[in-house]
Amino acid sequence: MRALELVGFEGPASLQLGERPETEPGPGEVRVRFSNMALNHLDVFITRGLPKRPLPAILGSDGAGVIDAVGLDVGTVQVGDEVVLYPIVSCGQCAACQAGQEVHCPKMAILGEHTDGTLQEALVVPAGICHPRPAHLSFAETAALPLAWLTAWRLLFTRGQLKTGDWVVLVGIGGGVATACLLLAKAHGLHVVATSRDAAKCARALELGADVALPSTGFSRAVQEATGGAGARAVVDTVGPATFDESIRSLGREGMILTVGATSGPKLELLLPRMWFRHLALLTSTMGNHSEFRCMLEDVNTYQLRPPVDRLFPLKDGAAAFAHLEAGEQFGKVVLSA
Ligand SMILES: [Zn+2]
Repeated sequence: MRALELVGFEGPASLQLGERPETEPGPGEVRVRFSNMALNHLDVFITRGLPKRPLPAILGSDGAGVIDAVGLDVGTVQVGDEVVLYPIVSCGQCAACQAGQEVHCPKMAILGEHTDGTLQEALVVPAGICHPRPAHLSFAETAALPLAWLTAWRLLFTRGQLKTGDWVVLVGIGGGVATACLLLAKAHGLHVVATSRDAAKCARALELGADVALPSTGFSRAVQEATGGAGARAVVDTVGPATFDESIRSLGREGMILTVGATSGPKLELLLPRMWFRHLALLTSTMGNHSEFRCMLEDVNTYQLRPPVDRLFPLKDGAAAFAHLEAGEQFGKVVLSA
């Protein structure tokens, strides 16, 4: 069985195609034969040793395919089912798991970060993380969903509690989470402002339903104008230091910054008075619970949403796919074919 193996921490150049033995599912497990797998920035960071994990490693949190073997005591799915995977494995026993808060499980493992992941032809997983894939999507589009769309759903609707009619600004449109936020926000009746340094990405955001698209430089003034001076309810800022000040200036009173990442660096200089005088909040999140994954899939089905796929690469060209994502020129997800 072919697998994309990480053999060092020198970036995409440390990825190579290898061979792994097929494994059989144990009790409660199934084997999923992947049709497509998608990349996340998390995978790129691991190729740079952030965080380091034992090598050789198989990365990848996102996968969609067909169940081709079923272990004992599995009643929920069967051979031939077309599935998409909830990208988190948790202990199922602790107080957090019992409360449906898998993101707070001390033993929580993301596929590909803590265990071998989806960037191979097949993977044995707990049957419970397999969900029927949305029928209106291709396997490639389905593979684009898990981590980015789960993260976006929790951020907007659990953490942000955003409602129909709210204005939300999506800074740096084009990445997986930002494009997921755009489509989910529009489905829920929010007003969306997208920003990008790239005019082509702004045009694409408008095609996908954004109400306003703005260049990245000095966008707060235009957001204030677009909202009639009220400011936005929320800004999803996954860029960080490069845009944070503009993001804060875009908010209305009691508005919030929502963040799940920082592509321009991890350290931030924050002028606190600018926050408290307008009662602003900073809310963070990462990934999401199993119940939120179900809600996300339900939205995708109900509103017939289609995740944009930037480009498809064969598994053997995985290193090139990683380099493409690392360059940051993509719009939507970078997807591999098994
Ligand atoms: Zn747990």
